[in-house]
Amino acid sequence: MKAVIYKGPRDVEVKEVPDATIEKATDVLVKITTTNICGSDLHMYEGRTNFEPGNIFGHENLGVVIEIGSAVERIKVGDHVCMPFNIGCGFCENCERGLTGYCLIANPGSAGAAYGFAGMGPYKGGQAELLRVPYADFNCLVLPPDAEEKENDYVMLSDIFPTGYHATELAGVQVGDSVVVYGAGPVGLMAAYSSIIKGASKVMVVDIHKDRLDLAEKIGAIPIDDSDGSGIEQVLALTDGMGADRGCECVGYQCCDHKRHEVPNLTMNSLVQTVRATGGIGVVGVFIPEDPGAADKLAREGKIAFDMGQFWFKGQHIATGQANVKAYNRKLCKLIAAGKATPSFLISHELPLEEAAKAYKNFDARKDGWTKVVLKP
Ligand code: NAD
Ligand code: ZN
Repeated sequence: MKAVIYKGPRDVEVKEVPDATIEKATDVLVKITTTNICGSDLHMYEGRTNFEPGNIFGHENLGVVIEIGSAVERIKVGDHVCMPFNIGCGFCENCERGLTGYCLIANPGSAGAAYGFAGMGPYKGGQAELLRVPYADFNCLVLPPDAEEKENDYVMLSDIFPTGYHATELAGVQVGDSVVVYGAGPVGLMAAYSSIIKGASKVMVVDIHKDRLDLAEKIGAIPIDDSDGSGIEQVLALTDGMGADRGCECVGYQCCDHKRHEVPNLTMNSLVQTVRATGGIGVVGVFIPEDPGAADKLAREGKIAFDMGQFWFKGQHIATGQANVKAYNRKLCKLIAAGKATPSFLISHELPLEEAAKAYKNFDARKDGWTKVVLKP
């Protein structure tokens, strides 16, 4: 099968590799029809992790089941399925509580499992023609009959739609709230979209890229262009000087001017300043545990500046971490099926799998107009 392979920092290749197969009785094999490139792939693409050359990328996957293991009961050949990026066993203490991003069995001794991810188990990615799905009865969301026609919407259920929603849950967004979102990448746009769906009264999205801010405006958020460093002032001016009720961090470990490896980002401090006293902060941007290549000593150790003094003084609360996709994907799926959510609005490019190298390069550079790429094997 053809697959997108990591070769080294900022270097991927589409090449022929052995076919994915059923390895355990609880697996299914999926023929991938849509698979996305995510901001999370960039941590590995840029060489900040221990992702090994030869590994297959891809954790945002959708396709059709073509073979089932002997112990699979619920999923059938021909089902159109979307896979949460987290792999859960379904039965451990965390999975039972809905915390499938932190399954204790799928990747023992670590924090959760995922497809095509550094440090998240032996599972290969789905930027390929075929994908092995473990614990398949648990890890496949069977899609409604209009799956084929709305594939570009449903594929967002694998990660970024539930992740954006998770940011709003972590922050505690409720009807009537004002919300500030840092990052107008796919995840930030989905956090803004989710806030709007939840009935927020005002949603502000901070970034430096006009094309992404334009999308935020298109869905009804207020774009805050921070390219001159006035983002904090703008948010305060729009919230009577007090700050937003809730804030979402959707940037993670990177630098706003893309001189990554030089200055770690300061969005955590911006959130403390632009969320009101006693407000909530939800952090879904990934702060990788360490970056050996960083010029900044603290960043090398995975330590990011955080204004603990102001945070304490303002009595804010904070929650972090991976989205437990399964906790949300069924209800968000119903919104798509009912025509009440169309997350495909953020797709800028739909390309054949063969063009993955070009797509990675442009998405990584945040090249104008490259917001979200879906690949079609
Ligand atoms: P992205 O990198 O395309 O988007 C990030 C955006 O943040 C960019 O538009 C960038 O210009 C902007 N930005 C950079 N510095 C900024 C700053 N200081 N202030 C405001 N904006 C700034 O990626 P994405 O796909 O949107 O993902 C965003 C983050 O979410 C990544 O860290 C990714 O790993 C993470 N993520 C987390 C989960 C989870 O489960 N928690 C799931 C998916 C993605
Ligand atoms: Zn992702």
